Amino acid sequence: MPYERWARVEIDLDAVRRNVRTLKGRTKPGTLFMAVVKADGYGHGALPVARAALAAGADRLGVATVEEGIALREAGVTAPLQLMSEPPASAVDLLIEHDLVPTVTTRAFAGALGRAGAALGVEIPYHLKVDTGMNRIGVPAAEAHEFAAAFDSFPGLRLEGTFTHFATADVLGDWDFETQLDRFTSALARMRDEGIGPGIVHASNSPAMILHPEAHFDMVRCGIAIYGLHPSRDTYGEVDLAPAMSVVARVTLVKKVGMGEGVSYGLTWRAVAPTTIATLPLGYGDGVHRVLSNNMEVLIGGVRCAQVGRVCMDQLMVEVPRGVTVHEGDEALLVGTQGTESVLLDELAERAGTINYELACAFGMRMLRAYR
Ligand SMILES: *Cc1c(COP(=O)(O)O)cnc(C)c1O
Repeated sequence: MPYERWARVEIDLDAVRRNVRTLKGRTKPGTLFMAVVKADGYGHGALPVARAALAAGADRLGVATVEEGIALREAGVTAPLQLMSEPPASAVDLLIEHDLVPTVTTRAFAGALGRAGAALGVEIPYHLKVDTGMNRIGVPAAEAHEFAAAFDSFPGLRLEGTFTHFATADVLGDWDFETQLDRFTSALARMRDEGIGPGIVHASNSPAMILHPEAHFDMVRCGIAIYGLHPSRDTYGEVDLAPAMSVVARVTLVKKVGMGEGVSYGLTWRAVAPTTIATLPLGYGDGVHRVLSNNMEVLIGGVRCAQVGRVCMDQLMVEVPRGVTVHEGDEALLVGTQGTESVLLDELAERAGTINYELACAFGMRMLRAYR
């Protein structure tokens, strides 16, 4: 048997393909679908996910950084690739070289892009980000038409799209969402009044895409949902998604500890009776947040086993329930389904006081991935 580490992430690309088809099926025909594969595909592997998503009908890809875009290009991805925020102006030549579509939010960057395009005698497409209330990045909604007008006749660049991003799309019936949507549609109207076509209009991330069809416009930008993870409690009843990620380990040691013995750093857990403890070879260096110590369950043989003692960087321990037999080499699941039991990333996220997005990214840090 070839060597394999006894801890890994398994990714079901068929689930990604099904999710993309399911989500795309919720949009009107002709609506473009951007698959967001930033942060190494939310820890699932940007390249395999990008290929699966494109095969299932995604029209373009979204990434966060220039490096992420270049990596996909160098791997042979030819689909339109968009950066979700404006990079430093020093990246302009790389963007052009690798055919990456930037987001523009400042006049300085737009100027640099235009000058570089003009020097080459080409028009570089860009998307204008409009800040409608998230207050993260973007040209303020009230100024978007002036910004677009200022660069409309500027040589070397071309407005390919106009977009915004919602801060509260994951809750139903939220007023702030409506405010952002109003500001966005007003900004688009003022652009059109100035005779400027906004190009591809887009606003919806996964929660907006699932909960607010009125905000689909010309394109939706789906990240978390293509991985089969729900962006919010409110989306569970709306759409069937198949989680793509499982986190699998094998038991490296099974031992009995006597009454009163402690386990792991600080001996924060102690056996109140002779107890069987199983050790697994993964820890917070692999994305199992240390805050989950003594507060998570792992599936072994289809049975939930309580994790005990502090999660270490590379290892963690679980208590084997009475009546259950575990052997070295047995498979343990931190995330996924075994028999009739499942542990969702959502469960771990809730216990860790965070969101499934963060844990998925974290599990992508060190463990190798196996695809099926
Ligand atoms: C990350 C990101 C998305 C995707 O968000 P999900 O909630 O994962 O669907 C969409 N748009 C922008 C601008 C983003 O940065």
